[in-house]
Amino acid sequence: MAARRMFAPGLLAARFFNQVRPRLPSRKGFILNRSLLTPQQTFRCSGGTSNYSQPKGDGSLYALVVGITALGAGVYVYITLRKDRDRFKERIVSLSTSFEGKHEDLKTTGSKEDATQTGEKAESQGEIETSQLKASATSAVLTHVPYILIGGGTASFAAARSIRARDPGSRVLIISDELDLPYMRPPLSKELWFSDDPDVSETLRFKQWNGKERSIFFQPSSFYVSPEELMSSEHGGVSVLTGKKVVHMDVRENKVKLDDGTLISYEKCLIATGGTPRNLPSIERAGENVMQRTTLFRRVSDFRSLSNLSSSIDSITIIGGGFLGSELACALARKGRQTGLEVIQMFPESGNMGKVLPEYLSHWTTEKVRGEGVNVMSDAVVKFVSYQNGKLNISLKDGRQVQTDHIVAAVGLEPNTELAKSAGLELDGDFGGYRVNAELQARNNVWVVSLLFCAFQLLSCSK
Ligand SMILES: Cc1cc2nc3c(=O)[nH]c(=O)nc-3n(C[C@H](O)[C@H](O)[C@H](O)COP(=O)(O)OP(=O)(O)OC[C@H]3O[C@@H](n4cnc5c(N)ncnc54)[C@H](O)[C@@H]3O)c2cc1C
Repeated sequence: MAARRMFAPGLLAARFFNQVRPRLPSRKGFILNRSLLTPQQTFRCSGGTSNYSQPKGDGSLYALVVGITALGAGVYVYITLRKDRDRFKERIVSLSTSFEGKHEDLKTTGSKEDATQTGEKAESQGEIETSQLKASATSAVLTHVPYILIGGGTASFAAARSIRARDPGSRVLIISDELDLPYMRPPLSKELWFSDDPDVSETLRFKQWNGKERSIFFQPSSFYVSPEELMSSEHGGVSVLTGKKVVHMDVRENKVKLDDGTLISYEKCLIATGGTPRNLPSIERAGENVMQRTTLFRRVSDFRSLSNLSSSIDSITIIGGGFLGSELACALARKGRQTGLEVIQMFPESGNMGKVLPEYLSHWTTEKVRGEGVNVMSDAVVKFVSYQNGKLNISLKDGRQVQTDHIVAAVGLEPNTELAKSAGLELDGDFGGYRVNAELQARNNVWVVSLLFCAFQLLSCSK
């Protein structure tokens, strides 16, 4: 911008100079191209310098004009640069003020621990922590948004991208009860564990199959418009309200209510609230000590805590033989090769992923998992769990006993359908998902996606 402006006076001066120049004599000492002269002028000048009769004072007039032009240009450049510098300073001050403001908000609205963590990290790290600062955004500034997506997972993010692709100026609000911007969950049980970076639980970066490194976040925070600016931004955009839960829906009035009491109306709403990991009744019954030593693995925070924990304990037991349980067992066993961590995996089936694989493949997989260093216990049904002398005791139905320091329960997912009650939406009696039509619509202007819906016409449930 400044560069362009600096050219402007230069161009003016050049134009002026060109207008003046053809009338000037082609004398030694003057920068003048003869080819620029009109034939008349050339003719007039053809007699050479000695024959040329110049009106007295023309040379000094030229010098004066060039001098004034150059001086004017200099002054103009100086003023422009100064203004640009002042504007730059103002911008930096306003940015740092808004950062501090957001930081303060976070301290007062979030839990003390979360706020301290987020604030400290935000100063030292880029992408992730800046994205978490979005949690401080106040929802009170928003009263109406054309598109509201409830849930900050893959389904919502994909929907936001599709809406923006079809309706480029649209304004989309994602409301998530997690503190992070939308991210992909699969690396939490895979690639992140195989990273060589000792700070991986902070950077959350992993190598993809093609060898390229990337963050688990779908987009950096710069991709999103802040909720405060969503309705005024010229080209719309996608905003994320993090750390906010939708607790009530009024599908007649087209409104959602957040856990901080804010009401926001919409034109179209998507329920993409995913699911919550199930626990075993025997663990839930076992009391606080057992619950504190049990992880239900789903979020970034679970990856972080399990990653830290796995370096400080002697033994961990994964209950569940599905994809998640088997992936985590292999990942932890790999880590255990360096730290000496004992990894046990137990499940009721006769082999790993026995519910989805034919028996021969399930047994082949089990051998592979054992080869990774996992102590696989098949046909294992947990009867009860207790805590004694700093250890968890897992009693199996067949009488086997296992002592361990920590449990990861990977025993399935319960669809998050609490909103159905307040919204008056039907749930499927057999499968528990929202009932929707073939276009995934539950009501006028309300759609449901991912593992939550159960279509009337499809006669099958996505769970
Ligand atoms: C560790 C792990 C590994 C996986 N690996 C694979 C894989 O390799 N391949 C594969 O296909 N799938 C995999 N999955 C499953 C896949 O991640 C899920 O299918 C996917 O996350 C579903 O996305 P979603 O957006 O529907 O729901 P979710 O990811 O569950 O997102 C829903 C979001 O909504 C939020 N929410 C819920 N209720 C509310 C509310 N009332 N207000 C505001 N926010 C709310 C939740 O906190 C959550 O953030 C994996 C899952 C996990 C956990």
